[in-house]
Amino acid sequence: MTLLTSWVGSANSAETPFPLNNLPYGVFTVDGTAPRCGVAIGDQIFDVTKAEADGLVELDAAPVLDAPYWNKLMELGPDVWATFRARLTELLSEGAEARPGYLVAQADAVMLMPFKVAEFTDFYAGKHHAMNVGTMFRGPENALPPNWLHIPIGYNGRASTVLVSGTDIVRPNGQMKAPDAEVPSFGPCKRLDIELEMGAIIGGSNAMGDPVTVQQADDMIFGYVLLNDWSARDIQAWEYQPLGPFQAKAFATSISPWIVTKAALEPFRTSTPTREKDLLPHLVEPGPMLYDIDLEVTMAPEGQSATTIARTNYDRMYYSAAQQLAHHATSGCAMNVGDLIGSGTISGPEKSERGSLLELTWGGKEPMTLDTGETRTFIEDGDTLVLAGAAKGDGFQIGFGACVGTILPAKTFPQ
Ligand code: CA
Repeated sequence: MTLLTSWVGSANSAETPFPLNNLPYGVFTVDGTAPRCGVAIGDQIFDVTKAEADGLVELDAAPVLDAPYWNKLMELGPDVWATFRARLTELLSEGAEARPGYLVAQADAVMLMPFKVAEFTDFYAGKHHAMNVGTMFRGPENALPPNWLHIPIGYNGRASTVLVSGTDIVRPNGQMKAPDAEVPSFGPCKRLDIELEMGAIIGGSNAMGDPVTVQQADDMIFGYVLLNDWSARDIQAWEYQPLGPFQAKAFATSISPWIVTKAALEPFRTSTPTREKDLLPHLVEPGPMLYDIDLEVTMAPEGQSATTIARTNYDRMYYSAAQQLAHHATSGCAMNVGDLIGSGTISGPEKSERGSLLELTWGGKEPMTLDTGETRTFIEDGDTLVLAGAAKGDGFQIGFGACVGTILPAKTFPQ
């Protein structure tokens, strides 16, 4: 596939994250007006709420795009997703009638949450991350739990604190206990971290009691976003046994504002790595269900320039989102439109590919030096962390837009 050209001039370059090949879905507002659904094209947003109201886009169950979220389209299923995408491609292609009245400059818009999050589940499906963290906590021989190569391990997170990129994050308070302390203490997290992840957005559902195959699971996925699973490592270390993370992860999860559809990512499908142990049949992928997406993380102290602290690729994951979703439903757990599935931290084999500060600074023992000359082990107040990602094609790319968060000081806890 090569670059598809549009009458929106800024979309016709190898550098734009949003060529006609992409067409990601977001929700935006301009000057405080009512939120609307839009599609990114070059440096513009095509206002599809207006396009549907004016009859340019016709969907069977209309109106579908009159709400400030994309769940109504998601509910209509893959055939409608394909028809809608084909119509958008037709409307925005070079040679089609130019309709500048439907464009809003991205620079003038504020992006909002693109969908209503039904529930959020986070996995632990990156082997390099699991090996690094397990080695730090339990030594290299016991790094991977015995179940790790057989099931994607996950936990039920919180949908209530999933936030769109650009939302500031307040440093959490919590209970923690230093290894050499006799009793626990309460206060602001001192080891605040990121987790570089991809989020899969579920656009289908299964009835309670009905499991799904890996292929059915892949068909249920609507699209992907970048996801930062903010983590309070000191709170996590004290609370996580035996039921896993709780308050350490519950305070905030950031996502990028544009839902990149599975259709846009189709040319970048790739397989999960070779299995180290054969999976049971119900979790075997029938085809490539992971994607080749370059990822990076930058960190900037308040008022200063950013330093790239990690670069890796989504293809490092051991389990795909489809395998995670299939596993999630094996017991008969009902999955719903708007469910969000976090991939787990994405790290590669090299030190420069580590997707968390916990790994980059090896538990705080090896501080990083930023380009500004400052050093960091974990995140300080005022720091801004940015995740970025793009699938790179021949003369075009499928970008995700940034997933940005700045850390504000902890609140004084009521006495
Ligand atoms: Ca995570």
